[in-house]
Amino acid sequence: MEYYSKQISQLIEELSKLPGVGAKSAQRLAFHLINRPMEEVERLSNTILEARKNVRYCKECFTLTDQELCPICRNDKRDHETIMVVENTRDLAAYEKTGKYEGVYHVLHGAISPMLGIGPNDIKLKELMRRLEGDVKEVIIATNSSLEGETTAMYISKLIKPTGIKVSRIASGVPVGGDLEYIDEVTLLRALEGRVEL
Ligand code: ZN
Repeated sequence: MEYYSKQISQLIEELSKLPGVGAKSAQRLAFHLINRPMEEVERLSNTILEARKNVRYCKECFTLTDQELCPICRNDKRDHETIMVVENTRDLAAYEKTGKYEGVYHVLHGAISPMLGIGPNDIKLKELMRRLEGDVKEVIIATNSSLEGETTAMYISKLIKPTGIKVSRIASGVPVGGDLEYIDEVTLLRALEGRVEL
């Protein structure tokens, strides 16, 4: 990229590190940004900085939030005795979009994958078990139906079974290997309603 001056090349290089952004898109984005009004670019970079600085895990469910407790955990109207376990915050958002789930969540931030060397201690599983010491009636496991998601579901159900808390798994209407966030709301609802006890 010697035909660009240093700062342009640097901007393209940084942008191309973003997921899903190839060299061509990075160039397009860089020139787009350079041509925008200063205030707009300032707003964008400040928004990124502020989000990066303030967004953290909810101390209860471990979803990403900018406060100590996320809005769902703070909401008294939610059923705090039903916990849905999901792999990431995007999956939580997918279920929230259905507007039909009244319980709370627990975000694992990953799934167990022996192939990738991700074990039970690498996801927020201890944190889930700690929550179960409180008043919990049901744990709904809504990890993806990929190999990792299924492995994680099985592992969690074995851990919870001895506690006597009801454990269920969302129905297999969700396509195998399908990322929850790409599945439409109707399919998600059906999966939730058709959950089976493990
Ligand atoms: Zn929360």
